[in-house]
Amino acid sequence: MLADKNEERTSLEKLGEFGLIEHLTKNFPITHKSTRKGIGDDAAVLNYKNQTVISTDLLVEGVHFDLSYMPLKHLGYKAVMVNLSDIYAMNAIAQHITVSIAASNRFPLEALEELYEGIALACKNYSIDLIGGDTTSSTKGLLLSITALGQQIEEDIVYRKGAQPNDLLVVSGDLGAAYMGLQVLEREKEVFKVNPNSQPDLEPYSYIVERQLKPEARKDIVELLKQLEVRPKAMIDISDGLSSEILHLCKNSNVGCNLFEDKIPFDPTVISATEEFKIDSTMVALSGGEDYELLFTIDQKDFDKIKGNPHLTVIGHMTDVSEGAHLITRANTKIPLTAQGWNSFSESE
Ligand code: ADP
Ligand code: MG
Repeated sequence: MLADKNEERTSLEKLGEFGLIEHLTKNFPITHKSTRKGIGDDAAVLNYKNQTVISTDLLVEGVHFDLSYMPLKHLGYKAVMVNLSDIYAMNAIAQHITVSIAASNRFPLEALEELYEGIALACKNYSIDLIGGDTTSSTKGLLLSITALGQQIEEDIVYRKGAQPNDLLVVSGDLGAAYMGLQVLEREKEVFKVNPNSQPDLEPYSYIVERQLKPEARKDIVELLKQLEVRPKAMIDISDGLSSEILHLCKNSNVGCNLFEDKIPFDPTVISATEEFKIDSTMVALSGGEDYELLFTIDQKDFDKIKGNPHLTVIGHMTDVSEGAHLITRANTKIPLTAQGWNSFSESE
């Protein structure tokens, strides 16, 4: 699980910047007609027929990822997913990424090769062309910035602002797994510090650990909604926890919301992990984060089209803005949602 210290090390200086870029990017085929020029000139050239959708993220070692339990291949894969998720959250189709890295001399060529293996796998699985980036050194640690680009026809782009009172609030997949996976990995890291010979048995936690280390962006949901002929009215991806994303939808759409606690979808292994760690599962869904599921509203008339679909769960409905945003608990009390989850000290009547 933790880094093997006896691996081969080729220092980055040996290759030089151009040699390094060429080496790292040689296994990235160009697959889209819209890619007129990828890597190798002063700029890439794209030819999108539709609206262009762009999103970028910067990941910093020690702030956004911990390499003591995050293998570099997974980091590369996840960094791409985080960006694609934002494109899908606009109901657009991602086609291109750029990747910029800054690495300290702690990172040999082999480490960057591993990182790019993850990036390459993500590009292959999601049909993405790598079209450029930048490479430089850092005095400390690894920084990774990815920009994703995609396209969609104007009428089908979905913003955070389109929700209306009485819309149904829908979420894809299940929630809280990535956060519980992180709890397991953090615990094993502490055990490892005390006893470096310990071999963690992560098998019972494989789903939640995988959701933390290897999340998948929900391209399939964008495709599913299109196939079902359901156009979401407002949409956002869940990177910071259900609660703060609901509040973003409410604020941008100028509506309120009732979220029903008993409707929040969980995998059974998340429930057992929350019991083991003595954490409230609702709290984990509301404030855990890194689920990368899609959260959206639909018109009530579209309910029949999504009813019973195993990938989609109706978890609430939008209200007039004057009603505010609330969690309706299993005990049928109404608690205001806050960006941190909910405010248990200010129950409203
Ligand atoms: P410039 O000096 O014009 O910025 P670079 O020498 O930095 O050009 O980059 C040369 C080419 O390699 C460009 O097409 C650039 O987009 C691409 N590139 C540079 N670094 C990376 C990287 N880490 N990953 C992918 N492509 C890269
Ligand atoms: Mg450059």
